[in-house]
Amino acid sequence: MRTDVEARLARELPGYARTVLDALEAAGFEAWVVGGWVRDALLGRPGHDVDVTTSAPWRETARVLRAAGAAVHETGTAHGTVTAVVGGMPVEVTTYRVEGRYSDRRHPDEVRFVTDVREDLARRDFTVNALAFHPARGLLDPFGGERDLASRVIRAVGEPRRRLEEDALRVLRAVRFACRLGARIEPATQAALEVCAPLLADIAAERIGQELDGILATGRAAWALRHEFAVLAAAVPELAPMAGFDQRSPYHAYDVLEHTARVCAGVEAFTGGGAPAALRWAALLHDVSKPACYSEDVSGRGHFFGHPEEGARVARRVMGRLAIPGEVTRAASALVLLHDFVIGPTAPSMRRMLAELEAAAPGQARQLSFSLLDLKRADAVAKAPGCRDYATELDQMAAVLRRELAAGAVWRARDLAVGGADVIRERGVEPGPGVGMVLAQLLTAVMAGELPNEREELLAWLRW
Ligand code: ATP
Ligand code: MG
Repeated sequence: MRTDVEARLARELPGYARTVLDALEAAGFEAWVVGGWVRDALLGRPGHDVDVTTSAPWRETARVLRAAGAAVHETGTAHGTVTAVVGGMPVEVTTYRVEGRYSDRRHPDEVRFVTDVREDLARRDFTVNALAFHPARGLLDPFGGERDLASRVIRAVGEPRRRLEEDALRVLRAVRFACRLGARIEPATQAALEVCAPLLADIAAERIGQELDGILATGRAAWALRHEFAVLAAAVPELAPMAGFDQRSPYHAYDVLEHTARVCAGVEAFTGGGAPAALRWAALLHDVSKPACYSEDVSGRGHFFGHPEEGARVARRVMGRLAIPGEVTRAASALVLLHDFVIGPTAPSMRRMLAELEAAAPGQARQLSFSLLDLKRADAVAKAPGCRDYATELDQMAAVLRRELAAGAVWRARDLAVGGADVIRERGVEPGPGVGMVLAQLLTAVMAGELPNEREELLAWLRW
């Protein structure tokens, strides 16, 4: 007897996935949808890509699906995986398998193909990911994944410590899925996370980067910082000094870690949970260098001179190591660099901010300008209560910024209504660096509001 839930899943399963299952089963094999699609569909969030697991060896899979009219790409045959494209939609199809010993805690020494889907489910990381579904046979859930999903619990399949030791990346995956599902981590799994977090040191940096980016993308980095800091600090050792770092400043009510968690939550609140990746990374890293830049004055008050510049360097280094795309890295480090840049609710100030962003992240100033205001606002409300008035002032700045951008604000020399050729002709200067210097002067005057960005006016200035 199928439950209502199973009937709903059967209705929601995309036709192209059904085609793959039916073709394999008509050829005498067994096939199930597995992993993320099942998990997300149970949560009422269909739309995840579909992965299929099957008893067919990959060559048979390829043969059967090609005969059914699919294009088949041999994307990971060493692990039994092919990708079938049906009606333009890709489906990964993998032969039932288990993984051999992990002598390096990174890659299984071998994969072994098996005949029982339950064995395949048993090698998966968490109960919520170890669910299989077939539209006629319903859910296959040997580890209580449906129940854990309903009560929002991340629980390792099998003995947690052993599973995390096999592949330490699972430590970060646990945190990512907890963030994504708003779940808690079951106590035995949590205890194993704490023991196994140091093993992340052996994991390839780009895999760590992917998981960390995934954690930030959930918008719940604040939770991870507060509840799983040992894991995050094992993944990115540069974060470790933030914990417990007393700022000894009347402007700060919290240590650097709690302050950072509040800023991460703040940028989500101000963007309706849709903060761009660079803003999320910047929120995480904006004060990362405060401990390293700490000094105390004679009164015992703390200062952090140079922490934005040093933080921007650390952000570039960390994100580069984690193989985060260059554009995101440049944008995030620009935001870190400028998070304390003094601005006010005036047009010239907003143009200066745009010019600084342009210099730090060429071509990204416009989008980043709003992210910088969001970061500054989150930073302000995450300090001591007295700093909150500044958040109101930031509203005015955002209004001025929008007005300026709509009115065609200029912050790059190339946006001036005159160009190098005009300078050479009107000023009689030789082509070369002198031209750039004149344009820079003009830009400064236009940004300060001393000149309008209008061709005739600028030509007159050049002739004068
Ligand atoms: P996402 O939406 O993040 O892609 P997903 O569930 O599809 O979620 P993947 O990383 O794409 O996650 O992996 C697909 C499935 O493979 C998982 O649901 C899980 O069953 C299994 N899996 C992936 N990585 C691991 C791992 N490191 N250890 C054990 N099982 C894993
Ligand atoms: Mg996936």
